[in-house]
Amino acid sequence: EFDVSAPWLNRVIERKGKQSVKAVDDVTLEIRKGKTFALVGESGSGKSTIARMVVGLIEPTKGAVKFDDVDIWDAANKRQVGELRRRFQMIFQDPYASLNPRWRVRDIVAEPLKTYGIATTSAEINKEVGRLLEVVKLSPEDGIKYPHQFSGGQRQRICIARALANRPEFIVCDEPTSALDVSVQAQILNLMRDLQDEFGLTYLFISHNLAVVNYMADEVGVLYLGRLAEIAPPRVLFERARHPYTRSLLDSVPDMEMTGRERHPVKGEIPNPISPPSGCAFHPRCPFANDRCRREVPLMKAQDGVVVACHGVEEGRI
Ligand code: SF4
Ligand code: MG
Repeated sequence: EFDVSAPWLNRVIERKGKQSVKAVDDVTLEIRKGKTFALVGESGSGKSTIARMVVGLIEPTKGAVKFDDVDIWDAANKRQVGELRRRFQMIFQDPYASLNPRWRVRDIVAEPLKTYGIATTSAEINKEVGRLLEVVKLSPEDGIKYPHQFSGGQRQRICIARALANRPEFIVCDEPTSALDVSVQAQILNLMRDLQDEFGLTYLFISHNLAVVNYMADEVGVLYLGRLAEIAPPRVLFERARHPYTRSLLDSVPDMEMTGRERHPVKGEIPNPISPPSGCAFHPRCPFANDRCRREVPLMKAQDGVVVACHGVEEGRI
């Protein structure tokens, strides 16, 4: 069940100006084949850094990103890594920015087919492009058009068709619907779910939208300032989140069904990642913080079907 996994222990240093920012710290994820693992968190939580590391756009300064047990940054394994990279793809937030406006749709979708030698003759390429456009519920005739002739939702379909051209197994989706109208969002999410079933795709789904995560995910990891606070299936998370940060995130969503307890929406700004708070990074915003919280970084521990990093939970006082 765990053959596509991205388990990693990272200490990633991303340079912002002259300062070093620890964007992601000791995050370990295992993503199960054919399932959707969602990462949620506010902006600045490290979601996009993780997304870009998983697909090999950013190199971790420590730790590994493994796919079928092969480290994607292992230089000694170049040939194997090249083949691996075909098997994962990324879908970005902004379908407007990620399509070359001067290319026809068929050339956009055909590019990975040529790069990876999946189709070579023009007859093969045309046939495959037509099939991919149909897979994302566009018409093969749309291939002759340019990106500006499509709506935002249709453009995201084109991005998905291009991502599928490589026949990937694993797709990192970085806020794939947050630039779209709400009515269009649902269509794209449904398409992604259908494609997952049809092709056995595994998704790492990055989002700040908890309703979307609830709809899409088999498992959810909550990120705060580059560290995982909690991992649980969405049903469990939404019914009985343990971590105070997760709870306050849920409390900030007006239409999220709550189980009768008092709401404590998250207050205050997310601290500057350049100088993260000592101990538990959430302590300045946490109503349950004590001295230990200010001193000691809490570690992830399995408890009642969730994995949670919180001293208060561990001590049984939350
Ligand atoms: Fe709050 Fe302490 Fe738990 Fe951090 S470790 S979330 S400060 S109780
Ligand atoms: Mg699913």
